[in-house]
Amino acid sequence: MAGTVHLIDHPLIQHKLSLMRQFDTSTYSFRALLEEISMLMGYELTRDLPIEHREIRTPLATMQAPFVTGKKVVLVAVLRAGMGMLEGILKVLPSARIGHIGLYRDPKTLAPVEYFFKVPQAMQDRQVILVDPMLATGNSAVAAVTRIKQTGARAIKYMCLLAAPEGIRTFHEHHPDVAIYTPAIDEHLDDHGYIVPGLGDAGDRLFGTK
Ligand code: URA
Repeated sequence: MAGTVHLIDHPLIQHKLSLMRQFDTSTYSFRALLEEISMLMGYELTRDLPIEHREIRTPLATMQAPFVTGKKVVLVAVLRAGMGMLEGILKVLPSARIGHIGLYRDPKTLAPVEYFFKVPQAMQDRQVILVDPMLATGNSAVAAVTRIKQTGARAIKYMCLLAAPEGIRTFHEHHPDVAIYTPAIDEHLDDHGYIVPGLGDAGDRLFGTK
């Protein structure tokens, strides 16, 4: 089964992403833009949330009105850069539950090592949205989804800001059932596993650590 990639090519998102890519964009702007893009992407990612109809009274009449139903969505942020995407999605999904997964890349092997994992109960009944800005080698994303699936979760979407073709390939080799949502697919990875042209180190740019 080939995996699905949703390219979110809305002009506003593309414009904001171009601003984020520029080397001299400030930490403040980078953070604000990531939040704005995440909010707009959150709108796209929640398009197929289940709806139920309930009777309500307007000032003029009663009607069957649509409401989102089911257990609360879980946003799982991959630490630390994934945290920069949470606030934006929470603007459209304010009562979402939040999980965190801590993975670092071994600088030599680029393999992911888990150091933190905490998610809500009843993962098997929830829509999970995994957020991490950079789908580079795909190794961390694969490890994160594998770990999330161990909780029983099956309805999982992966949301990023930039993806490399190598990362998409690796990700879908392991998790063809998990759709990727990204505003852009860049050219390639460099020898250090960075996306080119990319935007640099998302965590450092988000938190001003370099
Ligand atoms: N992580 C980043 O922050 N940037 C990249 O280009 C690749 C991985």
